[in-house]
Amino acid sequence: MKDFDYIILGGGCAGLSLAYELEIHKKLENKTLAIVEPRDEYKRDKTWSFWKTTPHNFDDCVKKSWKHFSINIPNKTKHLECNNYPYQSIDSGLFYKKINNKLKKNQNIYFYKDTKEINLEKSFIFNSVTNLNTNKNGLWQHFCGVEIETKNNFFDDEIINLMDFDCEQRKSVHFFYTLPYAKNKALIETTWLSKMNDNSQKDYDKQIKEYIEKNLNLKNYNITYKEEGAIPLFYPLNQSEENKINIGTAGHMTRLSTGYTFLNIQEHSTYIRENIENFTKMKKFEIQKKYQFLDNIFLKVIEKNPESMPNIFFKMFNSSSNTVIKFLSNKSNILEDFSIILKMPKWIFIKAIF
Ligand SMILES: Cc1cc2nc3c(=O)[nH]c(=O)nc-3n(C[C@H](O)[C@H](O)[C@H](O)COP(=O)(O)OP(=O)(O)OC[C@H]3O[C@@H](n4cnc5c(N)ncnc54)[C@H](O)[C@@H]3O)c2cc1C
Repeated sequence: MKDFDYIILGGGCAGLSLAYELEIHKKLENKTLAIVEPRDEYKRDKTWSFWKTTPHNFDDCVKKSWKHFSINIPNKTKHLECNNYPYQSIDSGLFYKKINNKLKKNQNIYFYKDTKEINLEKSFIFNSVTNLNTNKNGLWQHFCGVEIETKNNFFDDEIINLMDFDCEQRKSVHFFYTLPYAKNKALIETTWLSKMNDNSQKDYDKQIKEYIEKNLNLKNYNITYKEEGAIPLFYPLNQSEENKINIGTAGHMTRLSTGYTFLNIQEHSTYIRENIENFTKMKKFEIQKKYQFLDNIFLKVIEKNPESMPNIFFKMFNSSSNTVIKFLSNKSNILEDFSIILKMPKWIFIKAIF
């Protein structure tokens, strides 16, 4: 059994972000770190997107950045700007490569596929492993996206379509999300906010084909990449212990109303790095309580009134785009919070509170 100063369980987004943050700030020069990750090889498996409201270490892994976005419901479209907080998409393949190349150069960092050979008792553990599949009653954001290429130019690559609700709702919340990487290349994703206990929304391929061919009226295209996933819109029950901090999804870094997690993971990594010499006294890092409270109400509204959600999301964007972006990225002040709350249909939300 080998002893280490630090152990990171799970070398995914949170585990690798933390290891990288510690490495570039020279916190691993005299300390040993074991990263436990079962996957055999790293390949592109996700696209992490967000409004860049805080700096992060991965600007060189950004696939594309946009300053405009749109949202639409049947017969209505809003075009909005995000000059102050560009919307960025990170290619997970580039992210894994950049971090692993850096970490492999440090001889104090060890890589394992499981925990059999390492001593978990004496180290400080950062855990990103969680078992969520058992919770079928919680709400999930589940989705499938394909990257397509067209022969001729088809997309306006200056603007993303954040939410297109002009599609079949099936008594749930459903929208399409389009990220145009170039005039002939885009990621098109079908996204649902619903429980996972039935499979009636899982005909993703059919939904995407219909959307591309009927809604977008695009016939000639090739699918070059596909990603599928589910983000829990509830917090997993991972206990923190005296020598263990949960990070990533396990550490409740997901904003429950949106699924955005990537930038929260980066802020958590910075916080841990700043306090690493003092971690027994480290205060728990969490998404501010006001957002947890408001998101819980919002999720109840989603659950009870899915048919109202396209209008509710659309109305939210009646506030200035900076205000909405800051609110959805946990960076808003109290006036901005009120500006959003006042745009919401009062009665539905009051019922959800009680
Ligand atoms: C397809 C997809 C797209 C997403 N897109 C966005 C987005 O656009 N924007 C955004 O902000 N968020 C997004 N998210 C949410 C969130 O950012 C990601 O889920 C992110 O990867 C969470 O990081 P994590 O480290 O908690 O989990 P993961 O990245 O999943 O890492 C967990 C790691 O643990 C490993 N592991 C599993 N079992 C064990 C074990 N027993 N022992 C050791 N290791 C183990 C896994 O192999 C994995 O590498 C997306 C999620 C998914 C699934």
